[in-house]
Amino acid sequence: MRLYGDPILRRKAKPLQPSDTLHVPGYEPQTVRQVADTMLETMFEERGVGLAAPQIGLPVRMFVAVEYEDDEEEKEGQEKPLRSRVLREYVMLNPVIKVLDKKKDKSYQEGCLSIPGIYEEGVPRARRVSVSYTDLDGQARTLDAEDYLARVFQHETDHLDGKLFLDHLPAEITDEHRRDLLKIQQASKNFLHHLTTWEKQRQHTRENL
Ligand SMILES: [Zn+2]
Repeated sequence: MRLYGDPILRRKAKPLQPSDTLHVPGYEPQTVRQVADTMLETMFEERGVGLAAPQIGLPVRMFVAVEYEDDEEEKEGQEKPLRSRVLREYVMLNPVIKVLDKKKDKSYQEGCLSIPGIYEEGVPRARRVSVSYTDLDGQARTLDAEDYLARVFQHETDHLDGKLFLDHLPAEITDEHRRDLLKIQQASKNFLHHLTTWEKQRQHTRENL
C-alpha cells in the first residue's frame, strides 16, 4: 500500500485501456483484469470500501469499490466488512464524475487506506453523482449513485487526480494530525526505499538468468 507522503499519490494518473499491460512496481507485468483482482483482494484484506490504482503504485485511472450488505454487527462497530457480505463490486476505468445534486453532504466519516488510522467527518461531497466509465470488457457505462456510494466514487476519483480527502478540509485538521502523518510519511519513505532495493535485485536476477 502506498502511503501518505508518497509522490505517486499526488500525481495525475493516466487513462488506460482494458487491453493494456500494467507494470506494478515490485511485480511482473500484469493484465488490467489481474491488477483489478489484486486491488479487490487488497481492498478486502485491508477492510476498505475502495482502492485506486495509484494506491498500489500504478499511475493509471482505475479504481475498485464495494458495497456491503447492511449488517447489525457493523452498525455496532464490532465487525468490519468482509467479502462474504458483498452486495456489489465495482471496477471502473477512466471514471468521469458528473454531479447530479450540487447540495453538499458532510454526514459521513471518511478515511483512506493510504492514511491509516485517520478519520474525519465533514468532508463535503456531492450527494448524488453519475459516473461514466469503461468496464473490464471495454464497454462504456454510466452509473448513478447517491449518499455513501457517491462519496466513495468521489473519493476514489480524487485519487486519480492526486487529491486526498484531507485536502477538502481546513488546513487546521491536517495540523491536528501532524504527528501521525509524520509517522505515516516515514513509513512511506521506508517502503519506497525497500521497493527500490527489491526492484534492483529483481533486475539483477533477471539479467543473470
Ligand atoms: Zn483513499
